Amino acid sequence: VRAITFSDRLAYTDSCPTPRAGDGECVVAVLMAGICSTDHQITKGYMGFAGILGHEMVGRVVEGSADWIGKRVVCEINCVCRACDMCHAGLSTHCRKRTVLGISGRDGCFADFVIVPESNLHAVPPVIEDERAVFVEPLAAAFQVIRQVPIESRTRAAVVGSGRLGLLVAQVLADTGCALEVIGRNPRTLEWCDKKGIQSRSVDDVLPKQDWDVVVECSGSPEGLGMAERLVRPRGTIVLKSTYAGPSNSDLSSVVVNEVSVLGSRCGPFADALNALSRDAVDVSTMISGICSIEDGLDAFEASARRDTIKVLLKIGAE
Ligand SMILES: [Zn+2]
Ligand SMILES: [Zn+2]
Repeated sequence: VRAITFSDRLAYTDSCPTPRAGDGECVVAVLMAGICSTDHQITKGYMGFAGILGHEMVGRVVEGSADWIGKRVVCEINCVCRACDMCHAGLSTHCRKRTVLGISGRDGCFADFVIVPESNLHAVPPVIEDERAVFVEPLAAAFQVIRQVPIESRTRAAVVGSGRLGLLVAQVLADTGCALEVIGRNPRTLEWCDKKGIQSRSVDDVLPKQDWDVVVECSGSPEGLGMAERLVRPRGTIVLKSTYAGPSNSDLSSVVVNEVSVLGSRCGPFADALNALSRDAVDVSTMISGICSIEDGLDAFEASARRDTIKVLLKIGAE
């Protein structure tokens, strides 16, 4: 079967062995997959991953239990043991024995077929097309922000970074009615915000003033945290969404002096993302810059790293 793999370099192959499902797992034929910054970070050594890349997808169950077979699905990426202390405490995304689709210890979805635990599946309502369903995973991660930090209409919130994740987080925050500003470098995506009615500003125009209640760092760069520190008010909250290979070079003394809360934030609730897409509360369609076949996956990868693209999708299966 066809797949995009990474070991010491990114490669396309059409001769991956057909994967076999284990206990409690099923085989999903991948329809569409999304390329994300995490995939790029993995190719720079993040997580030390080797195998089939990809963790954002929509597909159809082709092998598994009768309950799921034939269903169009999206899939949570943390595959967990249900036995460790974290799982017992209801924190299974932090399972101590977890594998993560296309990120850690488990092949991902840039392939004709992917194996996932059935308990990770969510059925996709027909109203959400494949092109939008593929955004459920990163959109769920955006919803995690408002699960972790109370955001009200009087909250002053800033999103640092106007890339793929920043635009999703911005839309989720905008939907709460809070006072929101997106601060980024890319004129194209800042313009995209303006079109959505989301206030935005170039990072070059920002006078760093410590007066935002909540600053969500989505820049994907080691400088993002420092920027967030300059923006957040004393006793405010910084939410860190970016992951990147390599250390942050931030001086954390302002966190101490200003008694800032710094919160890590990762995967989030799929149900909230599916709900938002069903009622069209979040626009992902205009974030799609291109749709490539899996054979052109390496070109798609390159394209998705360019500043003139937002989201690049891989069309893998056909129905
Ligand atoms: Zn991702
Ligand atoms: Zn566990």
